[in-house]
Amino acid sequence: MARCPECNSKLVIPSDLERWDRVFCEACGIELEVVDVNPLELEAVYDFEDDDNALDELEEDEDDLEWDEEEDEEEDEEW
Ligand SMILES: [Zn+2]
Repeated sequence: MARCPECNSKLVIPSDLERWDRVFCEACGIELEVVDVNPLELEAVYDFEDDDNALDELEEDEDDLEWDEEEDEEEDEEW
């Protein structure tokens, strides 16, 4: 009998489960990956963390564009 590493609930595991297969914990809704089958070992999968990092990089690019506009101040040619 396998247990969820997050909430410790009992999990229904298919008998033909293989390494790197993924199962869902019905109690807490998390996705679990099979890292070993003998003995059975499960590890939680967190897919949503990558999305936050992508948003931070976009905001930094916008700051770089504003710097270019401040270099157009040349008035010496009016003599
Ligand atoms: Zn769980």
